[in-house]
Amino acid sequence: MAATMMTGAPREQRMPRVIGTYDTGREGTTFVVTGGIHGNEPAGLIAGRNVLRKLAHAGVPLRGSFLVLAGNLGALEQKVRYRDQDLNRLWTPRSVADLRSREPMLDTLEQAEQRELLAEIEKAIERSDGRFALLDLHSSSGDGAPFVCMGDTLSNRKIAFALPLPVILGLEETIDGALLDWLYETGRVALAIEGGRHDDEETAKNLEASVWLSLVAAECLTADEVPAYAEHERQLTSAARGIARVLEIRHREVLEPTDLFRMEPGFTGFDRVERGQLLATKNGAEVRATEHGRMLLPLYQGQGSDGFFIARRVRRFWLRLSAVLRRMRMSRLLPLLPGISCHPSIPDAFVGRYGRLFENLSVNFFHLLGFRRRRRDGEVEVFTRRREG
Ligand SMILES: [Zn+2]
Repeated sequence: MAATMMTGAPREQRMPRVIGTYDTGREGTTFVVTGGIHGNEPAGLIAGRNVLRKLAHAGVPLRGSFLVLAGNLGALEQKVRYRDQDLNRLWTPRSVADLRSREPMLDTLEQAEQRELLAEIEKAIERSDGRFALLDLHSSSGDGAPFVCMGDTLSNRKIAFALPLPVILGLEETIDGALLDWLYETGRVALAIEGGRHDDEETAKNLEASVWLSLVAAECLTADEVPAYAEHERQLTSAARGIARVLEIRHREVLEPTDLFRMEPGFTGFDRVERGQLLATKNGAEVRATEHGRMLLPLYQGQGSDGFFIARRVRRFWLRLSAVLRRMRMSRLLPLLPGISCHPSIPDAFVGRYGRLFENLSVNFFHLLGFRRRRRDGEVEVFTRRREG
């Protein structure tokens, strides 16, 4: 669908950055939705607009405020993922610091988009009473059930686990510079929803349902106040039927801009893959699964730096255990483990020096305690704590 059709604006007029706000003056969480960070993913904005319209129509007594922001305006207009750079890879602490110190006239097309988006998000944070949540809405080039991705903090879990969708952990560790990543740096609640295939009618419905249910989880609304709550819940439950509740990313197929990548046909999200199975070809060479698991986000479009991901189920037991360990602040005991020491300069960070044998064990253990893998330098890894909002 054309961006101009969605706004009803004349063709030459660009869509506004702020799609709309809804605020009844009651105290509560400032809840921001971003859509179209990738310009070929208009479904998030359709969903955001539907929620705004229905809130206003029903005069719902929302607590806090609700704001919908458009991501990559120029790319939305051209219906491409991005023009110069992927807008969802520009949010590393370094890129954001560079943006702040650079003259706006030196910005690339996407950096200019980022500057405006950053200003709107910061304004919303400033206006909030400290309670803030952001939901970033996406769609994908291949078919597949909708899902939630998040950095695994207890405050993100509160929203993510309220949605009847699979939750994917660890995607943010494999991708540098996603918008969510920047929000995590400041301890904000932030999640992303993948709604389904770009041009599937169900995708906007899935995303809209996710927004309504998240507003309830964030206590901006009660279920009774949501128009057709049961329908939204049913929408997600049936879209995600038969899929494990929580999965973690085990593998990301990284693509360089010059790579010639072709996914084998027929893969959809959450398909089972077996170790050794042929998944794609890259520069003429076969790409086979390095382990068994579930296929996520198979790339069936030209632009993108991720060929596919492989995720694997995480059992409930581990999630419950991890919540207990975090409340007990068990991370104080980490330096007692072999190969693990406190980071010399970063507070609340650890360095792991362990052989291959202990790699998986250590990474899993850090995840349990609420840490994320930061960077890898030979056999040395740095883990930092995910801040709780
Ligand atoms: Zn996207």
